[in-house]
Amino acid sequence: MSYDFDLFVIGAGSGGVRASRIAAGHGVKVGLAEKQYLGGTCVNVGCVPKKLMTFAASYAHHFEDAKGFGWDVSASTHDWGAMISAKNSEIERLNAIYKKMLTNAGVDLIWGEAKLVDAHTVSVAGQTYTAERILLATGGRPSIPDIEGAREHAITSDDVFFLEELPKRAIVVGAGYIAVEFAGIFDRLGADVTLIHRRDEILNTGFDSDVIEFLAEEMGKQGIDLKLSTQVTKVEKHGEEYHVTLSSGEVIVGDQVLFATGRSPITRELGLEAVGVEMTARDMVVVNKDDQTNIPSIYAVGDITDRMALTPVAIGEGHALVDRLYGGMPNRYISYDNIATAVFSNPPIGTVGLTHTQAEQQFPNDIDIYKSQFGSMRFSLAERNEKTLMKLIVQRSTDKILGLHMVGQDAPEITQGFAVALVAGATKADFDKTIGIHPTAAEEFVTMRTKF
Ligand code: FAD
Ligand code: NDP
Repeated sequence: MSYDFDLFVIGAGSGGVRASRIAAGHGVKVGLAEKQYLGGTCVNVGCVPKKLMTFAASYAHHFEDAKGFGWDVSASTHDWGAMISAKNSEIERLNAIYKKMLTNAGVDLIWGEAKLVDAHTVSVAGQTYTAERILLATGGRPSIPDIEGAREHAITSDDVFFLEELPKRAIVVGAGYIAVEFAGIFDRLGADVTLIHRRDEILNTGFDSDVIEFLAEEMGKQGIDLKLSTQVTKVEKHGEEYHVTLSSGEVIVGDQVLFATGRSPITRELGLEAVGVEMTARDMVVVNKDDQTNIPSIYAVGDITDRMALTPVAIGEGHALVDRLYGGMPNRYISYDNIATAVFSNPPIGTVGLTHTQAEQQFPNDIDIYKSQFGSMRFSLAERNEKTLMKLIVQRSTDKILGLHMVGQDAPEITQGFAVALVAGATKADFDKTIGIHPTAAEEFVTMRTKF
């Protein structure tokens, strides 16, 4: 039977773009449907604009700290509007690069919202297209819980990138990646920030307990008001300000309320039920290790599957899938072990491998912990009271490094390098025989001697 395409990809985000481009490079005919923007969440309302805003926010401390090193930086003010418009131009530039890259690769780009018609047919903007295989890569969107007034009055991460001004009093609900990242951005740009979280600690169990405690302490030192173990019960608008009522009865008043309470997969409107694609209770697409759904011609990668919601993971899954299908590489799979991740909080987190708790569960009575907490030389003359935490988790019987965690400036950059060592199976002895680079913060990872 002949089809319009060999592969039809739905969603031009991290996973879909990579899969389309590489598949086309392997010589197959690829159609790619996108309803909103090229590059998906990461490029438009995720990693990229978030990192640009993190850079913008970081100047606040640079200006303050520069004084200690002899600089006169008396007048440093921030123009939120200028930052947003510079960010918008950069994203437009990236969108254009994506378009050119896909066109040059020979991918047939089709604009519009795609929906499955059957196991080999997709409809987009009133047209139907057939394909031997279909790849679902539609990602996710922010979700706001069903709390009185929240969906009506609160904003999500999608909106925060387009605010016209800095909310002078910012209220952030949730304490995951997005919440702590934006709490830090708002804080450094000059807002009074309150972060409200339902549990007694920030982040989640995927992070090491020392990392969690340390970041909460640093955020508190910067003046971010952490309201833990409390729920939002109501959000109201009074004139230009918002009143957030907590389960404790306290009412917090702010200029914007950002709900960063997780994301839901974009699956409901895709026509999956009609075609019989299996989903989890949380509407995520169920796939096997080959990224294949229960319908053999339909595959899925990225945030719509219940794996790790990170851009390099979506890209890795999309790339490996089409290498297996069309590139003559039947054994190419990504490994989900030792995936490094960063939280661009202030200070930022870098982490790879097992947390303390995970290591204790997997290797009871067989782990050693090395920890170091210090004031970085970067802040010495600036007299900034910000500390750095580094932690290594080692399996005693094999000497293998099981986990590496850092909270401190440059932690994401430093952790990326050490992640290679963990993937390669490095031991504590390998770390010990590595000569450090002095003076750096990173050298602490190769000079840790004291067990805790
Ligand atoms: P997406 O990138 O979301 O792409 C899906 C695409 O499908 C979108 O373009 C969408 O418009 C399109 N689409 C949806 N439905 C249809 C349809 N029916 N028809 C046509 N097109 C459709 N990850 C990191 O690794 N590092 C970070 O620093 C980071 N920061 C983040 C910050 C924020 C604020 C957010 C929200 C996320 C962040 N992430 C980060 C996560 C990262 O953005 C996602 O994991 C990644 O984008 C997932 O890629 P994907 O291909 O699954 O989906
Ligand atoms: P997260 O899952 O990281 O955090 C969601 C937060 O919202 C948690 O604190 C959670 O609390 C809380 N929450 C969930 N439901 C409710 C509710 N009903 N009421 C109150 N609080 C609630 O999601 P994010 O939205 O921050 O980010 C989504 C994903 O995107 C991340 O998990 C990550 O994979 C990716 N991402 C990656 C980034 C990076 O790599 N730097 C940056 C941003 C996003 P609880 O813990 O109690 O469930």
